[in-house]
Amino acid sequence: MAKLLKRLVEILEEEKAFDRTGEEPVVRFVQPEELQKELSIELSEEPSSENEIETAIRKTVRYSVKTFSPHFHNQLFAGTDDYGLAGSWLTDALSSSQYTYEVGPVFTLMEREVIEKSLELIGYPSMPDGDGILCPGGSLSNMYGMVMARYKAVPEVKTKGLAGLPQLVCFTSEGGHYSILKGAHWLGLGTENVYKVKCDELGRMRPDDLKAEIERARKQGHLPFFVNATCGTTVLGAFDPLPEIAAVCREENLWLHVDACLGGTLQLSRKYRDRLKGIELSNSVAWNPHKMLGAPFQCSLFLVKGKNALHEANCAGARYLFQQDKHYDVSWDTGDKSVQCGRKVDGAKFWLMWKARGTKGLRKSVDVAMFAVEYFYERIKTRPGFRLVLPQFEGCNICFWYVPPSMRGQSETQEWWEKLYKMTAKIKERMMIDGTLMIGYSPLSYKNLGNFFRMVVTCQPPPTKASMDYAIDKIEELAADL
Ligand SMILES: *Cc1c(COP(=O)(O)O)cnc(C)c1O
Repeated sequence: MAKLLKRLVEILEEEKAFDRTGEEPVVRFVQPEELQKELSIELSEEPSSENEIETAIRKTVRYSVKTFSPHFHNQLFAGTDDYGLAGSWLTDALSSSQYTYEVGPVFTLMEREVIEKSLELIGYPSMPDGDGILCPGGSLSNMYGMVMARYKAVPEVKTKGLAGLPQLVCFTSEGGHYSILKGAHWLGLGTENVYKVKCDELGRMRPDDLKAEIERARKQGHLPFFVNATCGTTVLGAFDPLPEIAAVCREENLWLHVDACLGGTLQLSRKYRDRLKGIELSNSVAWNPHKMLGAPFQCSLFLVKGKNALHEANCAGARYLFQQDKHYDVSWDTGDKSVQCGRKVDGAKFWLMWKARGTKGLRKSVDVAMFAVEYFYERIKTRPGFRLVLPQFEGCNICFWYVPPSMRGQSETQEWWEKLYKMTAKIKERMMIDGTLMIGYSPLSYKNLGNFFRMVVTCQPPPTKASMDYAIDKIEELAADL
């Protein structure tokens, strides 16, 4: 076993998987049909030789996207913190679940500490008045928020189901994440019962429209139970005005969940935590340290106020796991707070990285990342060809178009815009083929916008002025003859 793992590390090094100089390609893009030929992907009756396995590992590394590259800005996550990765490997090496203290003693303590510190970070009461759990991703963390809110509003739903209840409805902004829609489907509410609240020109939820939508729902005889506000919307990176939204929720007696999957990390920064002002007024929060902060995938926290609330809403009391007559304090068995049975240990990697860096170190990495975003913004603001989607920068992502030289100085008709939207995809294609840069693009239907680039900067690898300059220069180079 150890020999195999040592060999794996060697291959990762030989293939420069962790290269942070930016000199290696961020991707070696090959079309699926070609890739199939390149790798011997089929599984067979006979075992493979040691050599074949080594080749398979090597090619996996070679043809995978190098998220550790300073030129990867394609998603909301990127490379990981070194200690985080070590923690992740440690977890896997000890192959365990997280539901009972019995089977995960150390991991149980680590998860609790991570939750305690995270509660403190967002200004929630500490345990047992605050609580939390690590979830398989932010979509699930958001669904936990919906489940908790619904249980609070109509506790009988747990045993009796939805039949006989008025139509339950929830609210999120136009810019909110689609996981709320999925949650509405999975929870039997239906996607039509997610009311989309309008955003202002910076992509932030408008509290006046929230109020109006709640009123509209009540007039229709529906039962509002959940408001989702977002800190760091997925595309524009906007932060909803939490104090105003919290005031509406208080007046209307509604559960306020904050989807801070992306923006929650800014809470670590003294300079930027202002963007999440009011988060402590909410009932629950979702935060993905696996995004900006660089905890290894997956690491998502659901945090909630209310003693025992998480347990009461989710427990099913399975006696084969959660025997009440164990020889230790069974309140350390956290599994019945979860919707899952077996639960991957996601707290340990975050714990190890937090332990190694200290809150101070994590804070610094956030400030370094935000310095880079601001620098990128300042540089493209006035640079010929670059065009910002939002009138000012108040979020965490930067959305922009790049107008190639051949399209400048023309009248900006509908056709011109359509062409620009196609250009965005074309420039992206060139990035991928060239393998030198990855920045994602997106349309935004509620604003009637076609494709634009979404520049994302994360803490790992730490971005620099040079990596920001590189991205700007590269886009200009790739689009020069378009
Ligand atoms: C990424 C994201 C999610 C979903 O998180 P996953 O871990 O990808 O499921 C939810 N909300 C926002 C705002 C996000 O950016």
